[in-house]
Amino acid sequence: MTDILDHWVSGASFAGASTRTAPVYNPAEGSVSREVRLATVADVDTAVQAAKAAFPEWSEASVAKRQAVMFAFRELLNARKDEVAAILTNEHGKVTSDALGEVARGMEVVEFATGIPHLLKGEIVQNVSTGVDVYSVKQALGVVGIISPFNFPAMVPLWFFPVAIAAGNTVVLKPSEKDPSAAIWMAQLLKEAGLPDGVFNVVHGDKESVDALLEHPDVASISFVGSTPIAKYIYETASKNGKRVQALGGAKNHMLVLPDADLDLVADSAVNAGFGSAGERCMAISVVVAVEPVADDLIAKITERMSGLTVGDGTKGCDMGPLITKEHRDKVAGYIDVAIADGAEVVVDGRGVKADGGANGFWLGPTLIDKVPTTSDVYTHEIFGPVLSVVRVKTYEEGLALINGSQYGNGTAIFTNDGGAARRFQREVTVGMVGINVPIPVPVGYFSFGGWKDSLFGDAKAYGPHSVNFFTREKAVTSRWLDPSHGGINLGFPQNG
Ligand code: NAD
Repeated sequence: MTDILDHWVSGASFAGASTRTAPVYNPAEGSVSREVRLATVADVDTAVQAAKAAFPEWSEASVAKRQAVMFAFRELLNARKDEVAAILTNEHGKVTSDALGEVARGMEVVEFATGIPHLLKGEIVQNVSTGVDVYSVKQALGVVGIISPFNFPAMVPLWFFPVAIAAGNTVVLKPSEKDPSAAIWMAQLLKEAGLPDGVFNVVHGDKESVDALLEHPDVASISFVGSTPIAKYIYETASKNGKRVQALGGAKNHMLVLPDADLDLVADSAVNAGFGSAGERCMAISVVVAVEPVADDLIAKITERMSGLTVGDGTKGCDMGPLITKEHRDKVAGYIDVAIADGAEVVVDGRGVKADGGANGFWLGPTLIDKVPTTSDVYTHEIFGPVLSVVRVKTYEEGLALINGSQYGNGTAIFTNDGGAARRFQREVTVGMVGINVPIPVPVGYFSFGGWKDSLFGDAKAYGPHSVNFFTREKAVTSRWLDPSHGGINLGFPQNG
């Protein structure tokens, strides 16, 4: 008998009325570890009503109280990170060290949110007119909705809810139904940290629950992370329903290697950023753009490193775990056939990998494909797996044009020892996050995370300063305290004086 994971509403488990469930796998075994409920429209409404009821008191709680909850949550998360890392490895498949890294990067946002008293400061100008002051304040929005993807079941929700809650909002989170348990674990931890019931709620589900959030009149904003087609749908639908929306989409991240780069550093970086988390990172490097004549040497160095990588159950100290589902594994593996059909050279084929894990695990080994035509689906599609492509170009300009021609603009990196070239690249490239000799340039928690083009719909990035603006409404107050108290009649529009 597998157990069924419930929603979390008003500080307690909530089964709701739905009879639909979905399987949650242990991808290293290929077996179902539990089922998760898929919420109905009415279940989502119950969660939204709980969040709505909690809003007046929470938004009026002192900033010091809200800050104290964040400090307590940060301490609990740090003390018990091994617990959530184990959940991540069990349901996502990522190796333990990577799961702990995910928690650490998410915790940065909690740490940022502990600074909420400073972050909520408004502005004031006195005497804009004689005896008149103008100041601005930031106030919470109300109930905010968060919809997250499978690849970072803890970190992506953490990109949003700490700042949302610290700013005085109440939350309904709809995590990925593929690995939903970390969200419930965090909900329980928030309660332990002293968060009042109803401030943070979790509903599990699929399109039905997402649409219910997008259409709910009591949801003020939507923060989404996932694939580009869904991000676009979320942006359009939530906007049409009058909500503030930020929708982060997919990616195809290029690493541009100039001939003067340190090729050992490049090879290490390409392997780490290409195959870490089995390539299921929105900031994974999926294309190495080699400016000739470096390609042959670089491929030799990458191949040598790949031969030492171990694949298996994430709890066994391997370098790389399985993919999230059998369907996704098969889809990713299918791109290797596409590459061959399109005339590319498969240098390392991960399909025959010997994994240290279950016989039915969703395994695909690290794969390297050279001479990928830029017209091939292997180049133009987001593969989201351990498949690294190499495209050879003759010049910096040719490489830059490729990157800027991509529909995506999430992350990119340049590897060079030429400061002038690096400076030029970071100015000329049309990508939101740029690494210089750094392959995965995920900004620290006090900057903001987000791409350009089809990698982000809306104008607000995740976490950092953008998130404070996203999760608050600014109010400008013009105030006059008269002494003596009189005004006089003047029907004209007020002017300075
Ligand atoms: P996904 O788009 O399939 O799902 C994301 C969320 O949307 C899930 O909660 C899912 O339940 C929901 N959803 C799925 N189909 C839907 C539909 N038709 N209507 C309404 N809701 C729907 O993405 P995923 O496979 O879970 O995650 C991988 C994708 O996320 C990749 O494309 C990756 O690049 C992207 N991603 C982007 C970032 C970023 O910061 N830009 C970060 C992480 C992941």
